[in-house]
Amino acid sequence: MPKVVMVLVDSLSEHQLQEALSHRSVPGLQFLSEHAQYRGLMSTVYPAMTATVDSSLLTGTYPDMHKIPGLVWYDSEQRRIINDLNGLACVAATGIVQSAIDNLHALNERHLSTDVETIYEALQAHAMTGASINALVHRGQARHLLRLPGWLRWLSGWRLAKTMEVSGPEQLVLGDLTNNRWCSELPDHLRRPWRAYGINDGYAVAAFTQMLRTVGQADFTMIYLPDNDHAMHRKNPAHMRDATLQLDRHICGLLDACGDWRQALEDSVWILLSDHGQVQVAKQAVGQIDLDAMLRPFRVLPLRERADERHEVAVANNERMAYLYPLKAGVQARLIEVLEREARFDVIAAKEGQWVTVVQGGSRRRLRFAKVQKSADESQQPVYADIYRQKWRLDGDESVLDLQIIGDELQYGDYPDALARLYGALYAHEGPVIAVNARPRYEIHCATYPRHKNGGAHGSLHRSESEVPLWVCGAEPHVAGATFSFPTRITDIKSLVLHIMCNGR
Ligand SMILES: [Zn+2]
Repeated sequence: MPKVVMVLVDSLSEHQLQEALSHRSVPGLQFLSEHAQYRGLMSTVYPAMTATVDSSLLTGTYPDMHKIPGLVWYDSEQRRIINDLNGLACVAATGIVQSAIDNLHALNERHLSTDVETIYEALQAHAMTGASINALVHRGQARHLLRLPGWLRWLSGWRLAKTMEVSGPEQLVLGDLTNNRWCSELPDHLRRPWRAYGINDGYAVAAFTQMLRTVGQADFTMIYLPDNDHAMHRKNPAHMRDATLQLDRHICGLLDACGDWRQALEDSVWILLSDHGQVQVAKQAVGQIDLDAMLRPFRVLPLRERADERHEVAVANNERMAYLYPLKAGVQARLIEVLEREARFDVIAAKEGQWVTVVQGGSRRRLRFAKVQKSADESQQPVYADIYRQKWRLDGDESVLDLQIIGDELQYGDYPDALARLYGALYAHEGPVIAVNARPRYEIHCATYPRHKNGGAHGSLHRSESEVPLWVCGAEPHVAGATFSFPTRITDIKSLVLHIMCNGR
């Protein structure tokens, strides 16, 4: 039975990979590429933000099932904004202690639905072991203690204990917070505060190397490499060459950890993939869609407060998309009226009973769609099946989502898997919610949230950041076979991993 090593590179695009390979300057990636049994593209989920994508990757479900709707979202039960660490100023405005607890504890222990099963939980049922290195989502059946930094405890007024218990696979690494004995010998310079306390590529490579030397390789290892994302945000995807060289250095480091590169591919199936791409945000002020200005007529919930009768709307900004939560009757219609005047929004979507209504900003062209559930419904609209065999009813102008209808089949254009992705994002919430999506080159701006003028940003429904590369290397003969087709969506990865590990002999 092969082991699996899954390397998740944040913001890696197919274009970035192809460009690097064409220059033959990336030996690690070149080696993996030459030994790939499969190289293809997958659609990610919506919003194209790491917390949501990781949850889908590990559970094989859309957000309506796993219930992590974004990096930033509004929790209607607690009546407050959850910020899983999006930008320092924004985290400070939301409350550093609360954001740290949400990110380190609640994401895995409370917010991620217990109705879904992570890869680690599934493997445990097959008596197989797992390891997670620096990934945000890691729920499993083992318990681990994270060591909290002194300043965070001080900020909490010493309410937080020295350690925090979280769940994970058998081996769990989260930078300097890791309490493993075998991580204590990793170099100090890789876990300094300015190196994100060890949540960086160098630390992940060192941890993987140390893990192989000490406790050995788990049956399934997930390694998260975040540095590429930071580089793309800072510069932009047009200046990706340096970031790719750095990434390759770390890919070489992971292969080196196994001793011999060929042996690494004989012992394990290596899956290289990305969570989303990025697009270049315009340098000019027009690239920033000022949502705060647009919402001036409304009483908006401040980031740190709990919603009460004073507030009309809560806003959760996820870079190139945002959620708006009407908190009072009548507010949704007023909000949509304001939003649909803005031509820089290509998609404005809201729940309407069993339907999702989509309006195109500026033109105000409209489309409604509904998921065809198993139980018969009485709608008169015809049913269409998309390439993933998901069934939908449509009503209105299908060009709003660049859909093509051929017979009773539905094909996607600029918005891959648009219907399931929009449905997943909206129905991840219990109450009313509107999703607004920026056209390429624009990002949504709200005070304190990070801005990326002339840099890179992501989050949207558009294919520019919604299609991600997938390489499966050293897999033959484990994934070969007529009955198996390679994933075309990030939600299919869990079954690929289980197929390799449980049926791949
Ligand atoms: Zn990012």
